Amino acid sequence: MDDAEKVFTQIPEFLEYLGTGCAEAIANAATPDKLDLSPKFPFLCSKHYADLIKKASEPEALLREILPTRDELANVPGFVDDPVGDLPAGKADCVIQKYDRRALIVSTATCGARCRFCFRKNYPFQSNPDVAKQVSDWLDTHSDIWEVILSGGDPLTLSPGKFRDLVEAIAMHGSVTTLRIHTRLPVMRPDLVMQHFELLRELSARFECVLVSHVDHPDELDEESQVVFGQLKFSGWTLLNQSVLLKGVNDNAKTLESLSRRLFMQGVLPYYLHQLDHANGVAHFEASDETALSLIAEIRKRLPGYLVPKLVREIAGEKSKTPIF
Ligand SMILES: *Cc1c(COP(=O)(O)O)cnc(C)c1O
Ligand code: SF4
Repeated sequence: MDDAEKVFTQIPEFLEYLGTGCAEAIANAATPDKLDLSPKFPFLCSKHYADLIKKASEPEALLREILPTRDELANVPGFVDDPVGDLPAGKADCVIQKYDRRALIVSTATCGARCRFCFRKNYPFQSNPDVAKQVSDWLDTHSDIWEVILSGGDPLTLSPGKFRDLVEAIAMHGSVTTLRIHTRLPVMRPDLVMQHFELLRELSARFECVLVSHVDHPDELDEESQVVFGQLKFSGWTLLNQSVLLKGVNDNAKTLESLSRRLFMQGVLPYYLHQLDHANGVAHFEASDETALSLIAEIRKRLPGYLVPKLVREIAGEKSKTPIF
């Protein structure tokens, strides 16, 4: 099966694949009149993620994460195209630096599937820049940078050759001691993570390596994510997870508790629970701070401290993520 067969770009075909077993979830997550068949932020779902939905104990939750609805068309005050101040923090086309001595690379515009709540859903991705060269040139003049974060889009969707060029360009810069990858591919396209495995293993000899996965619901974790995380852990990677608090997806204590526990069983520690970034078209996913705080208070009673994520929000212009107390 080639890559083209591993993704759905057409909603009717995707819904047909989910089949009658998911009819109730589909009816609840998006009735035909609420579905948006030609959304501005295009639909994309991997076959792997579709299979996760099919076998999920709560298929509706996963479906809401990727099925476009007309709710996204709502114009809600305070929801904007650049909610986290990426554009003013842009240093080179693909380098964003907001925090002292640490930089983030927008490695690619591509993802394994498109999340409807994405904070970069309106981001003006540059078409196909030579990322490795740009990053290398920028690092040449920024020898104070010690942590480089590969983000996107999803950095692990780069071809093995391009991904290697990028990390090798970073590795040339002695000041960079920590390489961090933010990715959703362990749950969206585990097959693509495995393509990079040889290199990922090698990297831990050069850098402190941190992988921050983005998993929002326990049903996103299966045997395949377990293999990916297991191999990375065995290769010396530190594994952390960030989630976004999403109404109708994970805004209850039972789901958050189960997410933390299942992550831990796969070798991953919960890191952040993000309050939703206010990107245009995501307002229907928002849970209030009050809800967020009471959920954290509740899971704190049910879990060891190391399984309780930090509740944060990103405020444009601040020098770190902002904890919510
Ligand atoms: C979120 C973010 C980071 C990482 O922040 P941590 O609090 O270390 O996880 C770094 N750079 C940018 C531009 C970010 O948005
Ligand atoms: S994987 Fe990340 S960057 Fe890609 S659509 Fe989802 S939230 Fe956005």
